[in-house]
Amino acid sequence: MKIYLGLIVAAALTLTACGGENKSAVSTSSDVAVSSASEQTISTASSASGVVEPVAVASPDCTTVIVSDDAMKFDIKEISIKSSCKQYTITLKHVGKMPVAAMGHNVVIAKTADKDAVLKDGAEVAIENNYVKPNDERVVAHTKLIGGGQEDSITFDTFKFNKGEAYEYFCSFPGHYAMMNGKIKFAD
Ligand code: ZN
Repeated sequence: MKIYLGLIVAAALTLTACGGENKSAVSTSSDVAVSSASEQTISTASSASGVVEPVAVASPDCTTVIVSDDAMKFDIKEISIKSSCKQYTITLKHVGKMPVAAMGHNVVIAKTADKDAVLKDGAEVAIENNYVKPNDERVVAHTKLIGGGQEDSITFDTFKFNKGEAYEYFCSFPGHYAMMNGKIKFAD
């Protein structure tokens, strides 16, 4: 009989011990849950900044913004294209208020040697053609003709340039060249 009681006590002690272990196990797992939740918060934040980074790194060396206005002017006189740029992007902004038919601007890129012919042929086509002869092989690239409040971008391959020759960019709206032109330089 004494042996039987002893077994019951031992069993009761074992149960108590188990209960205690279970309680501590519960509190431990909730600690883990809290810490993993905070880890998730951190990893979410780092992945969010990972999404932003590529946008900020988007090769600013191979991009130029040219601002034009109702005073028939470009804000820069020269574009320098680095040899590391396989492609180059030019964004033209027109910050004036006048409509395209009265004060339209574009950016046309051509050899200085071809400039006069490109302008002459461009002046003979309709404004809907952006004052650039369609499929003009002398034109390396050109934006659309835009009016006040508009902008347009072009991206072109830099292998199209023969770096031994002089190139420039200009607006081909009739009469604008004298005020709206600049040089294209090639840098290392
Ligand atoms: Zn213009």
